[in-house]
Amino acid sequence: MGRLARVNLWSGKVRYESLPEEVLRKWVGGRGLGVYIMLREVDPRVDPLSPSNKAVVATGPLTGVAGVPSAGRWASVTKSPLTNTIHDSQSGGKFGPELKFAGLDAIIIEDSSEKPVYLWVKDGRVEVRDATHLWGKDVHHTEDMLREELAPEVGRDEAGKIKVACIGPAGEHLVKFAAIMNDKNRAAGRGGHGAVWGSKKLKAIAVIGHDKPKVAKPDRFKEAVVKAMDKLKKNSVTAEALPKLGTAVLVNIINKAGILPTKNFSTGVFPAADTISGERLAKEFVDWEKQREEICWGCPIGCARYTRVEKSPFTGEGGGPEYETIWAFGAQTGTDSLEAICKANYLCNELGLDTISMGHTIGTLMELVEMGKVPKEALRGLNAKWGSPEALVELVWRTAMRSGIGDDLAEGALRLATKYGAPEVAMVVRGQELPAYDPRGVQGHGLAYATSNRGGCHLRAYMISPEVLGLPQLVDRFKTEGKPAMVKHFQDVSATVDSLIVCKFTTFALWAEDFADMLSAVTGVDYSPSDIEVVGERIYNAERAFNVMSFGDGREYDTLPKRLLEVPMPEGPAKGQVVKLDEMLDEYYRVRGWKDGRPTREKLEELGLRWVAERLAEEGLLP
Ligand code: SF4
Repeated sequence: MGRLARVNLWSGKVRYESLPEEVLRKWVGGRGLGVYIMLREVDPRVDPLSPSNKAVVATGPLTGVAGVPSAGRWASVTKSPLTNTIHDSQSGGKFGPELKFAGLDAIIIEDSSEKPVYLWVKDGRVEVRDATHLWGKDVHHTEDMLREELAPEVGRDEAGKIKVACIGPAGEHLVKFAAIMNDKNRAAGRGGHGAVWGSKKLKAIAVIGHDKPKVAKPDRFKEAVVKAMDKLKKNSVTAEALPKLGTAVLVNIINKAGILPTKNFSTGVFPAADTISGERLAKEFVDWEKQREEICWGCPIGCARYTRVEKSPFTGEGGGPEYETIWAFGAQTGTDSLEAICKANYLCNELGLDTISMGHTIGTLMELVEMGKVPKEALRGLNAKWGSPEALVELVWRTAMRSGIGDDLAEGALRLATKYGAPEVAMVVRGQELPAYDPRGVQGHGLAYATSNRGGCHLRAYMISPEVLGLPQLVDRFKTEGKPAMVKHFQDVSATVDSLIVCKFTTFALWAEDFADMLSAVTGVDYSPSDIEVVGERIYNAERAFNVMSFGDGREYDTLPKRLLEVPMPEGPAKGQVVKLDEMLDEYYRVRGWKDGRPTREKLEELGLRWVAERLAEEGLLP
């Protein structure tokens, strides 16, 4: 759309700006555009919860373009209160396309408001409105109340078209892993973006628009999307596994590979995996009629779930749970109650919490309890031993409200473990809790975790695809040879996918060539597959440069918890393995053109980032 809105929450003023074509060519949209804006406009040393941090909400050139598979996405980019890194969080649903239909590629949110506010975006105009009546409300009520309140302005028939992204009580209470939720159950989950909105007193963005993005080259576009759809239809993951079982299909697969992190990464085999599997979820919990409504805009894959629990005391219904959520509340805490896992997931959606960090941090607490590090009175009578289903639900509440021990959990696993005297049990990278794959049995994935700019994350380079699922082809997961170049390639292409923006799950079937074809046809600018990689490489280097200026990022942060580097996997198919990071890191820096984890002047200049190199040089931070 070539246009963004800049909203100052302190003054309430809104400015509209056009986006220079050169910026869009180089940074594309979504994550890339957000990273560019943050690097240009925000001091990397800023306190993430201060008014000087900014929050960018961005769509990409493929968002909302009818025909492009799974392009119903938007990105939030900011500096994270959890990790102190630059951080992007992506979400699906229907909010992203609606923002595009409203004629905006992005909204830059600056400063903080004195009282709670929301943004009302209608056909390209943005207004800052009072949200005092919404403060304290959960995500679902906030969305319903906003739609009801705005209906008279758009007409009752159109009210259903209004889309909402908002925070819940967790964001208001500045929980360091509070999510921004949209379409009720979709989350820009990781990294505490909800806390950044909370610190700015921004409760929600409601949007409606009627402009449809145009395609520059319709014939080329048709050819490109037909080819992409054909590949998605022929791929076993996108055509069968995900539609049938959702992401939860992975529970049994990853457990069989011996890398399902269990009891805070003490082993990779969870004996009760079958009880919390995607197969059981599909058979006993999924509401297949409601499930259709949960699917993201324009998605032919349809991995989303809608589930219902009828058994007391965990009765409830809602979107999800995803694989990562089932793992975080299940194997990570040693809990085999799928009912309790579903209930904890519904609560996270309503209170606005990242399910991965939440479940993971409960697992950390359980290990601290086992070690005798947590005084009894801190738990106020709660059974927080491994496998306690009631602890899941109760601790989600306490965390969102920062009540009692919940106040410590709200700070994330690293700060929790440090406070109780055992920082070594925090399974984090750059302060972000690791997700649902024990890297000791997947060497490339271990390197991807260690070098992830936003901290512990499976989506910067999903090496599970080649190392376990055999896509595009199977590689030996226990070997380190060739992994650094592969990880770099995956990280770079993934950064562009997050900028287009299309869903990562398309990458099981599609890759740089397909994305280049669709992007070229939509924008009219020719991108080759290698251009797709270069755009991603530029983003990855820019993020790293931001982190270098933020907290001196580099080799000492490109690492993993000692448990994963030094304690061999005790059992299962990955028995005896540790992550051999030392064998991969130097080679990774070589293929990246970095020195000791920092981008060099030559690399930055090659990527058109001389201005970034100059800033690093001025601060004496160039290697
Ligand atoms: S595959 Fe799943 S997450 Fe991705 S766009 Fe489709 S429904 Fe959404």
